[in-house]
Amino acid sequence: MSFVKLFTFTLVLVSIGYQAYNMMHSKQLIKILDEDYRHLYSTIRRFGYFYNNSSSEMMEAGIHKHGDISIIVLEKPTEVKNLAPGLDKLNERLQQFVPGSIWSISILENVSNYGLFMPLRPGYQELFSKNKKTKNFERLMTREKLNNTYQEFYGCNTRMTEVYVESITNARIRTIYFPIHNRESLDAIVAVDIKASLTDTLVDKYNDQNKTVLSLDDASNIFKSEGRLPCTTDKKIEIGSNFTNVLKASLWPSFLLSVLTHIIYCFVHRHGQFIKKDEMTGLYRRDYYEPKFKRVNKFSLLVIDIDHFKNINDTYGHTKGDEVIKICAQIIMSQIRSEDIAVRWGGEEFIVMFKDMKRNSLFDKAEQIRESIALDDIAGLSVTISIGGYTANNISFSEAYKAADGALYQSKHRGRNKVTIA
Ligand code: GH3
Ligand code: MG
Ligand code: MG
Repeated sequence: MSFVKLFTFTLVLVSIGYQAYNMMHSKQLIKILDEDYRHLYSTIRRFGYFYNNSSSEMMEAGIHKHGDISIIVLEKPTEVKNLAPGLDKLNERLQQFVPGSIWSISILENVSNYGLFMPLRPGYQELFSKNKKTKNFERLMTREKLNNTYQEFYGCNTRMTEVYVESITNARIRTIYFPIHNRESLDAIVAVDIKASLTDTLVDKYNDQNKTVLSLDDASNIFKSEGRLPCTTDKKIEIGSNFTNVLKASLWPSFLLSVLTHIIYCFVHRHGQFIKKDEMTGLYRRDYYEPKFKRVNKFSLLVIDIDHFKNINDTYGHTKGDEVIKICAQIIMSQIRSEDIAVRWGGEEFIVMFKDMKRNSLFDKAEQIRESIALDDIAGLSVTISIGGYTANNISFSEAYKAADGALYQSKHRGRNKVTIA
């Protein structure tokens, strides 16, 4: 098989296998996404314990800085919970889990005039002051169905919005709301804005870890596994892989695999050839085939010997002699079928074994071989061969060989360039 064919074949196989591997992983990824978002929610919920155990202090109206956190107190001096260290901790945990995907975190105290923002982006302060005045807090609660998260989202006390564009910053984000309820009343809301790209980032992370090429909501995907992100009314998400990515990822492994297969094939082929076949003529070697011959007892045999070969060597040299041997071997091969077995038995002596050949046919076949050598121009010389044959039926190879060799002797004796079947 040519290398190009081998490579194409390997590429098709590897691509099909890799596609199946991706399909297998698509359901697993949906599960992982579900777990990742739930982990995000539970990290946010842990802030609730901190909130309930925080002491308060009086703060003047204005913006108070606490590292990256800004505390906005509206209008008059207010009793403000000491939430900054807890917010720092929450931010640290979120950044550790989804680095680079947290857009902002805010804590909005209910029916109170302060809020914490991390970071305080331009426009947030204005929005916060306006919301307070227009009682948008209650409206937010209703719009986002935060009063009844348990009933609205089974098992959820957090709620994630769909992707939207934040008007003041133009960022594509989602907000995860966690309402802190105490004794039937809503005390505060934790709002964590995450970048809309988070799901893609999580998919990329999964691909890196599992050597997959899965993608999210991609129209060119060949197959899709469907799922939903938890605690949101988002439409279904679709995970799959597309043909181009699968093919691209399969190129290198297929190439390496075909190179390896090619090397092994060549090695085995050459090695096998080396031990099985005689290097000079390409016929089977005697030491390879003789043991096999000993296991059969129904066959026909020809022993072929080149006439006056010593003369050729003496007159034209060994190189010429070698060439004559080679050409004679080729002619013998051209006269037999692929299932017949030709062996270089000695220097210029060959054996051909046929399965299922009657005595008459054996004679005809031997004549055909003899004639084709006698009539051919062999390395510029006229060369003849003598042949002895025997059809064995239930006798050992060595006995059959002895008989055929005896017949060969007769052919020589009768003047060479003859066929004798014993
Ligand atoms: P006959 O017709 O009786 O067979 O006469 P002959 O000269 O062919 O006699 P014989 O078969 O005894 O001679 C074989 C010679 O072939 C002896 C040896 O030197 C030579 N020979 C054997 N192997 C090789 C070989 O690989 N290359 C060459 N050039 N000569 C070889
Ligand atoms: Mg000879
Ligand atoms: Mg000989």
